Amino acid sequence: MPSSTRAGQDAGFDAIVVGAGIGGMVSAAYLAAAGKRTLLLEAYNVIGGYTHAFRRAGKWEFDVGVHYLGDCGPGGAIPTILRGVGLDRKVEFLPLDPAGFDTIVFPDLTVRIPVGWDNYLDNLCAAFPAERQRIRKVVGILRRIGGSIDHSRTPASLGGQAAFVRRAGFATRWAMLPLTTLLDTYRLSPRLKAAMPAQYGTYASPPHRTPVAVHAFMLQNFLSDGAWFPRGGGQVLSARLGEVIVANGGQIRTRSTVRRIRTEHGAATGGRAGGRHPVRRTHRGVQRRPEADLSRPGRPRAPQAPHDPAGGAVPDVAAVLQLLPRRGRRPRPVDTEHQLLLGAHRRRRHLAVQGPR
Ligand SMILES: Cc1cc2nc3c(=O)[nH]c(=O)nc-3n(C[C@H](O)[C@H](O)[C@H](O)COP(=O)(O)OP(=O)(O)OC[C@H]3O[C@@H](n4cnc5c(N)ncnc54)[C@H](O)[C@@H]3O)c2cc1C
Repeated sequence: MPSSTRAGQDAGFDAIVVGAGIGGMVSAAYLAAAGKRTLLLEAYNVIGGYTHAFRRAGKWEFDVGVHYLGDCGPGGAIPTILRGVGLDRKVEFLPLDPAGFDTIVFPDLTVRIPVGWDNYLDNLCAAFPAERQRIRKVVGILRRIGGSIDHSRTPASLGGQAAFVRRAGFATRWAMLPLTTLLDTYRLSPRLKAAMPAQYGTYASPPHRTPVAVHAFMLQNFLSDGAWFPRGGGQVLSARLGEVIVANGGQIRTRSTVRRIRTEHGAATGGRAGGRHPVRRTHRGVQRRPEADLSRPGRPRAPQAPHDPAGGAVPDVAAVLQLLPRRGRRPRPVDTEHQLLLGAHRRRRHLAVQGPR
């Protein structure tokens, strides 16, 4: 919500970002590092959205959203994004097992998903030797589509679409059809039709509702460069980005649900944020307020520690730590979706859970 209008300037912010998930955190960090007076508003009582982790019973740690990430190798998209705000050397990505970053387990069959399209093809053919020819054709289409999607151009643009069609060639016609249509057309067995889309949890959409292009892009993302996990868990990403925001004079407010966004002539000029919880604390760089009318004049803040891409910024770590989940603070549920996370008191072999360790 960049505000170049008078109302935005009066409010004391150049930009107001709604939601402190990874999208909002990256946006706010870039805006703050670029010298914009930035306010990040979060409905929840902690920052991070799906990057946050929580602990239970002193023995389980649940990462709610980040299980593995693609494109985190040297020069990958995520390290490149982090480098823009000086974080590339402050977040370390650990590679998952390249021989099998995912494992699909049937009662009598295990298929490991390895890095590399050729390895992927080999593993599928080894697991389903009678369907080798059909697997080759389906994987050939997925690979062609996956390799034709250009990260740097939006596929929504006409130019982006034309470039995609040029690269994908014969495979283009499959791109927007449901994944199940592709698998049905090549008459894969029911078991193979269950195994091939099994990673659909990564994009949270069932195969009959997922365009082939989405599945192909997911495969390309992980098969080309492997799967990675940030050392310390997903929360490290939000913690580091929060440090950048605060170090550059930005403000983060939790328990601040944005209920209204005011627009003038098509541009956002302000809004209203509020929370149900009373204000208890005002911390340097971090304020919690039950209600904030963003159109009211506010005092511009001088940056506390201008961001230095060479890594010299001194972040207000304490302020950011206040906003991360910690022991004893139960996250307040927000009605976005429901997950069931289970911890088992007994060892896996006692629970008859199969699969590699
Ligand atoms: C179960 C699950 C597993 C996943 N696993 C992976 C994985 O392994 N690898 C991977 O790359 N991706 C994974 N993802 C996807 C990834 O976590 C998300 O795509 C990403 O975190 C979304 O970030 P976001 O900023 O868009 O949204 P969110 O993380 O949802 O953040 C949105 C934030 O906005 C806040 N908000 C919403 N409305 C308002 C409002 N009105 N006012 C103020 N604040 C508001 C919310 O409270 C929230 O904090 C997974 C997702 C899920 C659900």
